[in-house]
Amino acid sequence: MSRLSQQSPDSIFILVAAVVTRIEQVSPSYRRFTFTGPEVQHIADNRHDQRIKLLFPLPETGFDGLPMHDDWYQAWRLLPTPERHAMRTYTIREVRQDVAEFDIDIALHGRVGPASTWALDARIGDELIVNVPNARAAVTAGGVDWHAPESVDQVLLAGDETALPAIAGILESLPDTSRGIAVVEIPHPDDIAVLSTKPDGVELVVLPRGDQPVGTLLIPEVERIASRLAPTVDTAAIATLPTLEDVDIDRELLWEVPVDEHGGPVLASAPLYAWLAGEASAIKTLRRHLVSGCGVDRKSVAFMGYWRYGKSEDNG
Ligand SMILES: Cc1cc2nc3c(=O)[nH]c(=O)nc-3n(C[C@H](O)[C@H](O)[C@H](O)COP(=O)(O)OP(=O)(O)OC[C@H]3O[C@@H](n4cnc5c(N)ncnc54)[C@H](O)[C@@H]3O)c2cc1C
Repeated sequence: MSRLSQQSPDSIFILVAAVVTRIEQVSPSYRRFTFTGPEVQHIADNRHDQRIKLLFPLPETGFDGLPMHDDWYQAWRLLPTPERHAMRTYTIREVRQDVAEFDIDIALHGRVGPASTWALDARIGDELIVNVPNARAAVTAGGVDWHAPESVDQVLLAGDETALPAIAGILESLPDTSRGIAVVEIPHPDDIAVLSTKPDGVELVVLPRGDQPVGTLLIPEVERIASRLAPTVDTAAIATLPTLEDVDIDRELLWEVPVDEHGGPVLASAPLYAWLAGEASAIKTLRRHLVSGCGVDRKSVAFMGYWRYGKSEDNG
């Protein structure tokens, strides 16, 4: 019996069985996995920074015992830890509905977590279960966090290697007339191969980090660029802004994506829209700089902690 048959065809997100058909070492740090499966054609193709969940098989029992109905998430959370399949968040790099395929670019970071270990060991024919937006639902755009105003003078995108697949998806989805700067800190200069195209008016700043700690290059560079791109706000006005509440990234998720009640952009127009994602403490530092240092309107900045140094996604 198809696993999907236990889920309503109009759910906003669905669980889909996905089998690896191709593995490509795109660059020193990235492995691209192509998946297919009988239900893959139903994955909504929203592009931008579409996030999805990957569920990994248990060593002994694979996906036996994984609830595959509409309330799977609650049931999965209640499973005893040894029987609970590891789940991690990734970006869909590309969906090709016509041939029932999709790609994910995984930044290899050692044999330390379920996702990174799977990426090192995976073979053609291996199966994952993915939680993805459903093309047949009335609302198909769940899991997209790029909500730029309709009219924006400049965009600022910034992130580390975990955010590069999302930045690539956003740059490919932007109108050709877009202007701004995209800043990526990656382990190796050749890792930029993950990015295929961008609007001419968006400058690309690549920061190869080598062995330095994550954020070492990203933080000063984005601070410098943000100070240049941010609309001029006088320091007296910035001093009157409410104090930015602290986010304890050891306990809370750093995730601030301004949307209106319909899930769309809050502002109709803005001089600058910024999207920042990556290691949480680096993104937290940049959040403070943009909002409290440069006075950028919080309604036109999205900040996302994609991972936390020294902490697995399980400790959320
Ligand atoms: C919305 C969203 C989209 C994402 N998209 C992508 C994507 O397309 N490609 C991608 O590669 N990643 C992406 N990530 C990041 C990915 O989910 C994390 O890196 C995840 O923690 C990896 O899981 P794991 O099982 O390998 O490690 P975990 O079990 O979560 O963590 C184990 C250890 O590894 C460390 N760690 C986790 N990630 C990294 C890293 N990248 N480098 C160094 N150390 C790390 C942790 O701090 C921890 O100490 C995304 C995250 C989010 C929230």
